Amino acid sequence: MAAEKVLSIKQEAEVIPIPVASLRPQRRAPSSWFKSVARVALLTLTICAVHRSWNNYQARKALRSAKFANEVWALDAFAPSRGKTPMFGKEVEEIFLSVPNSASAIAASRQYATKPHIAGSDGDFNTARYFLELLQHEFGITSPSADPVYSAGTHESRNATLSITNLTAPNAWIDVYYPVMNTPLDRKLEIVGDDGHVVWSANVEEVADDTDPEAGQYAEAVPAFHGLSKNGTASGQLVYAHYGRREDYQALVEKGVDLKGKIVLTRYGGIFRGLKVKGAEELGAAGVLIYSDLRDDGTVTAANGYEPYPHGPARNPTSVQRGSVQYLSLYPGDPTTPGYPAYENSTRTEGVNIPKIPSLPISWANAEKLLEEIGDGGKNRTVRLVNHVDDRVIPIWNTMGVIPGHIKDEVVLVGNHRDAWVMGATDPSSGTASAHEMIRGLGVLLRKGWKPLRTIVIASWDAEEYGLIGSTEWGEDFAEWIQEHVVTYLNLDSSVGGSRYRASASPSLAHFSRQTAEEIPHPTIPDKTLWDATKDAGPFFGEHADQEVSAMFSEEEQARARAAGGLGVSPLGSGSDYTVFLQRLGVASGNEGFGSTLSDAVYHYHSIYDSERWQELFCDPGFTKHVAIAKHLGLQTLRLAGSIILPLNTTHYAYELESYLDSVEDLVSSSDLKVNLSPLRMSIRALEKASLELDFEKHRAEHALERAIKKLKKKHAIRRKIRKAICKVRKHLGKPCKHHKKPDEEVCSFEPVAAPAIVGKNGRIVKPRLGRAIGMMREKQAEACREMLHRNRDPAEMPILLVHPSRQLLRAVKRVRAANKKLVAFERGLISEDGIKDREWYKHLGVAPGKWLGYGATTLPALTESITIENNATMAKYEAIRVKELVDGLTQTLLA
Ligand SMILES: [Zn+2]
Repeated sequence: MAAEKVLSIKQEAEVIPIPVASLRPQRRAPSSWFKSVARVALLTLTICAVHRSWNNYQARKALRSAKFANEVWALDAFAPSRGKTPMFGKEVEEIFLSVPNSASAIAASRQYATKPHIAGSDGDFNTARYFLELLQHEFGITSPSADPVYSAGTHESRNATLSITNLTAPNAWIDVYYPVMNTPLDRKLEIVGDDGHVVWSANVEEVADDTDPEAGQYAEAVPAFHGLSKNGTASGQLVYAHYGRREDYQALVEKGVDLKGKIVLTRYGGIFRGLKVKGAEELGAAGVLIYSDLRDDGTVTAANGYEPYPHGPARNPTSVQRGSVQYLSLYPGDPTTPGYPAYENSTRTEGVNIPKIPSLPISWANAEKLLEEIGDGGKNRTVRLVNHVDDRVIPIWNTMGVIPGHIKDEVVLVGNHRDAWVMGATDPSSGTASAHEMIRGLGVLLRKGWKPLRTIVIASWDAEEYGLIGSTEWGEDFAEWIQEHVVTYLNLDSSVGGSRYRASASPSLAHFSRQTAEEIPHPTIPDKTLWDATKDAGPFFGEHADQEVSAMFSEEEQARARAAGGLGVSPLGSGSDYTVFLQRLGVASGNEGFGSTLSDAVYHYHSIYDSERWQELFCDPGFTKHVAIAKHLGLQTLRLAGSIILPLNTTHYAYELESYLDSVEDLVSSSDLKVNLSPLRMSIRALEKASLELDFEKHRAEHALERAIKKLKKKHAIRRKIRKAICKVRKHLGKPCKHHKKPDEEVCSFEPVAAPAIVGKNGRIVKPRLGRAIGMMREKQAEACREMLHRNRDPAEMPILLVHPSRQLLRAVKRVRAANKKLVAFERGLISEDGIKDREWYKHLGVAPGKWLGYGATTLPALTESITIENNATMAKYEAIRVKELVDGLTQTLLA
């Protein structure tokens, strides 16, 4: 140890001026005033040298104890920016926002949405490669000689994700997972007469001509079937079950209708389609038909004079909504590998989140015939449905891209699925086109020398349509890594399917989501913002509309507003790729997009008519909505990746938890159950207090960092004065005086600086987190420098940047880091290892997809459903205790 110290001082001696005492005597004897000055200078120099040596010694000691020196990110963070000023804050945002544009978004949409690309197909693999090439091109990744396509579970695939936190340059690759999925073989829908002869046989496919060129060309490329549906045949009499919701089936049971052996005819809407099948299956039905009803098209109908697509905005009566019938609210992902990744050689279980009875999606044209059959005067003859599908292991491809940040181990994740039922111009290619524009924006920034503070990971998920498979398998594969590193997840699915902007998010991201949307211009109306589009509606009105549908729509919108707690950003249910991150791993998440209203051109969801022509002609002419979403998603990503303190509002979350509890109280008081919820309320109030404390700490930590930076600048001013004094001394002695003046072309760029790592109490290396701090300093420095140039003053007069960050700065950085850890811990704290009763895959006790909703969110799900579904006071008490324990633990974490 001592030897090190001596060495350090020796090395220091080489860089500091030679002490006055060792100089050769001059001709003229120094005067006495000069002697005093020299003594003071010598003393100052000695103090400086010892201080610097000590700092150096500490830094080297810390570095020596690091197993991997290159993990000390700080060294990398301050790498020379090669004559470029580091870019942060507003400058970065402005450059980014200038990039996304309509022409490019339309080109991207045409690239993805003019050919079928159902998960697992060749077309799908092609799109995985398009996305890989985009990432390689924009992030400046040289494409390796062998394609970076890795089979999940292999060393290459594991390493690609696990080494994200060690990367020094952007990277991109494709992970291949192996879920069990089905593909359609043949289908039939028939009415059978009493003599056993077929009296009517439906055309079960969609019909198109080349008015819409792609719809015409690919009308039968992907037959109209249900993903993950049961292979088989069913025949029986029809029973109409309305929307197939829990209450619809209950109403039938109460009327004494027996569903055993029947074919249930139900209409799309209200809840996730898989749950319509589940409800029928539980009541003993033989098969299910789900159709698209014109009543659900609001005012955009022939009754109001609108032509059907492709000649107008109304529904094409032959269109069919494909889609998965997975029992999403049990668990998503590959049915045969629940809770663990679907590798090629994974041990598989019998999937229990898929139907045991066959089903078919059908058009309005066919439903009309069947409704006639069971209507007044109908013959109600036997209906036979055939659904032959091929179940097998099918490879799927997630394309992944990484931009490493200064803080490598804090990851901002952004994702969007890429697979479509057919061409999917809206679902998901509108999202893919928006993501494409965001990636181009990041590419422009990278080429200008920008590096984010935190690492950004972009994912293009596959097989979302079959049941959120690509994201779920990756989430299950890297659960531990995600929980350790991912700070937030932003999801995009369909970014444009209608005129109304809707945002959903974890309550901690609600303010952030809204504030940023208020900064993005409205896609078409000057002086309005993206957020104002939350009130927009489509242009196709009319006097005829179904009263029940209109009432349902406004009830849904009101429910959203209530659940959004006055902010307009509602909680997340399910139905897209945030599910595994939020509801199993506890990552604060967000989702957004423009959706339909009852006066929008009918969106032919999961049909051949979700086509490029429809998108360009009716949905988003000019693609300004696509561009607005790209800008908003990018702005959020830049701020999440660039803020010193993560923009997570845990206090709003804590208050939202209390309002969720209010809703449970209402449920209890309107039932005859007796459940005391006040201990839980007390715990939530304690959490609110702890979060308010954290709010203060957030500000204090940020200010401490700013103060430390200021102090360092001051220190450098003093150093400069000392340097000037020494210079005077040297001049006086006739010695040349070193100037710190730099060549003109470099006047406004700055030397690299290195921060030492420090050793924590337990002997582990503590990596100083001060990329942004240094960045801010450099930014200010560069600004001042430019200003001096502007005023024709010599920038060499500027103080030189710090070489050794002070301990105060390192402490401040650690403090910021600790505050961020607590912010991230908030969502994690609502995860219960035991999960939710009967669907343990879901582990978040704050929010889950409703057991009988699928798409919609149920807050405090285990507790709420113990009342609404189980009607069981003992269970409710038990569930209240489980939530209370989590909340208490969370309060402890925040106060730690
Ligand atoms: Zn989708």
